[in-house]
Amino acid sequence: MKSAAFDLLQPADIGSALHSLENPTLYSKVLGGGQSLGPMLNLRLAQPDVLVNLAKVPEMRMATQDETSLLLGAGVTHALIEDGLVPDVTKGLMPFVAGNIAYRAIRNRGTLGGSLAHADPAADWVNTMMLLGASIQITGRVQEAGASDYSLSQRTVDAQNFMQGPFTTALADHEILTAVRIRKLSASARWGYYKFCRKTGEFAEAIGGVLSDPEKGIYRLLIGATDGVPLVINDAHALINSSDHAAIASILRDAGMGEDPYAFKMHHTALSRAIAMHNQMT
Ligand SMILES: Cc1cc2nc3c(=O)[nH]c(=O)nc-3n(C[C@H](O)[C@H](O)[C@H](O)COP(=O)(O)OP(=O)(O)OC[C@H]3O[C@@H](n4cnc5c(N)ncnc54)[C@H](O)[C@@H]3O)c2cc1C
Repeated sequence: MKSAAFDLLQPADIGSALHSLENPTLYSKVLGGGQSLGPMLNLRLAQPDVLVNLAKVPEMRMATQDETSLLLGAGVTHALIEDGLVPDVTKGLMPFVAGNIAYRAIRNRGTLGGSLAHADPAADWVNTMMLLGASIQITGRVQEAGASDYSLSQRTVDAQNFMQGPFTTALADHEILTAVRIRKLSASARWGYYKFCRKTGEFAEAIGGVLSDPEKGIYRLLIGATDGVPLVINDAHALINSSDHAAIASILRDAGMGEDPYAFKMHHTALSRAIAMHNQMT
């Protein structure tokens, strides 16, 4: 099948992109890399009147650092991260994750922001940004009382609060996810990330994530590719160090994953392997 007809707009800045989304009589959608939206258009699951392509907005591909964090534009592709063409402040976690998303053709176009905005529970960036405790920058437009012009408004949402359910996020209509702020990990930080997929390039059936950064008091576990929002345990010091299988099983049961033995086994193994990977990291 082919998509229903739509108009394609190619704004050159965020203000124009936001303006293009605001026509109340038209159903408008943002286009990132098109790697999730494209199939939905072709299957006619989405039939927008207008697509607002962000590819020509320079800010969407920025990468700027300060002492404590890296700000990555939402239009940075998986491939740019995989290839180290944007700085890495995560001791290799982000390039590792990027290199295991789908296939190279998808990684060439798919974007960090598009993946987060799409909010598939098995999406690697959704899970990784929650594990890293990143924050999501969202831009909209406001018109102050009495003013004739609009100005840009920005708000920030913690990645752990951004996804609200499968394919549902904190983004309001007419807002654009513009950037992601990732805090720099310390030299002593360690991570583990393990994803189960039936074959390379597929979405995960289970994701286990571990991050420790003793200098910053971070000891975090993540159980991802669940039926809903990934589960983050922010105070997991004892569990990370002991890698106690019974304790992992108990966490999974508490998270309501005891019902389906197949899913339970996948998540248990993913998390155990992520912990082992973390513990082997120097
Ligand atoms: C065969 C296949 C295998 C895949 N495997 C994996 C995998 O293993 N792991 C994984 O994580 N992903 C996987 N993906 C998804 C891929 O990573 C996509 O790139 C990603 O989900 C969407 O990013 P995009 O930039 O292409 O967004 P698009 O497809 O352009 O958009 C997706 C949605 O987000 C909205 N959107 C896009 N950008 C923004 C923005 N800046 N602000 C607000 N809304 C926005 C769009 O309106 C749309 O609703 C796979 C995809 C395919 C087709």
